[in-house]
Amino acid sequence: MDGDRSVHGILGPRALLCRRALTGEHGVCLPPLTDHHVHLHLIDEHRLAAGGIAAVLDLGGDPASLARRDRDGMPHAAYAGAFLTAPGGYPSGRSWAPPSIVREVGDPSLHPGVPSGAATAVDEQAGFSASVVKVALNAAAGPVFDAATLEAIVACAHERGLPVIAHVEGEGMLALALEARVDALAHAPFSEWADGSAIARAIALRQRWISTLSIHDGADRERARLNLEAFAHAGGRVLYGTDLGNGDRPVGVDVDELTALDTAGIRGPDLIATLTEPWPPSPATAGVATFVPGHPPATLDEVPAWLAGATVLPAEELVHEAE
Ligand SMILES: [Zn+2]
Repeated sequence: MDGDRSVHGILGPRALLCRRALTGEHGVCLPPLTDHHVHLHLIDEHRLAAGGIAAVLDLGGDPASLARRDRDGMPHAAYAGAFLTAPGGYPSGRSWAPPSIVREVGDPSLHPGVPSGAATAVDEQAGFSASVVKVALNAAAGPVFDAATLEAIVACAHERGLPVIAHVEGEGMLALALEARVDALAHAPFSEWADGSAIARAIALRQRWISTLSIHDGADRERARLNLEAFAHAGGRVLYGTDLGNGDRPVGVDVDELTALDTAGIRGPDLIATLTEPWPPSPATAGVATFVPGHPPATLDEVPAWLAGATVLPAEELVHEAE
């Protein structure tokens, strides 16, 4: 049962009834919403704000072109820059992954400037103002880092204050990511089951798992959902992310992804929290808010579809009303 049917009970403590100052239209406002896994070079980003997304985390793109973005533009973008991968590893050679977005790292060297060295690759992304470092651990599609190289990348990123996000796919890759103490997973694990000890380890590391449930079909989708459900149930931190640019997905809030999260037991206030956590931390969305016109949802079941009405507005255009 839903229990608390107030706006806060259904949508969490930061939801407020409000109206637009210009039009008088009533609705609900929420903090800015973030999609924590996108690829900007593969989408029409100008449609994101109308679709309710104020901020994105780009997890694989050309660091030079990402660094040229307007810092105050909409959507606000934090980014990893290029994928770091083993020589010949995923996603090198893929049609959607030109050489500008992949760096092959074959040497665990922590000295700056070593060709294909760990520090060289991390320093390049840091130099382009990356907020995170993305590593590809895809044993299903080519070679992956040995433990020493991955450890060197993580050590180097952490030294520069950058969290590491791993794409984990194929046998043993979740264990490798846990062993290397990566900070987040770009996708809830979908090719392997996360057993109790893996989940306990992930939570002890304070890992964040980015959802991306709806990019999968069949058995992968079910494994991802059940892994994420177990992780969230044990207290793990889940972030909403769609892998936008991968396949044909709506540009904006994705109701399929929200429904999948809801089905994994991440509901109501917890669901809103996956969208509103500003991670990695960024002050750039100050001054904007999410507005959803109309009545607030009356039950937890209604929340995913209700969020389809979300749009981004200047915060000053919204007037709070008493509940
Ligand atoms: Zn991706």
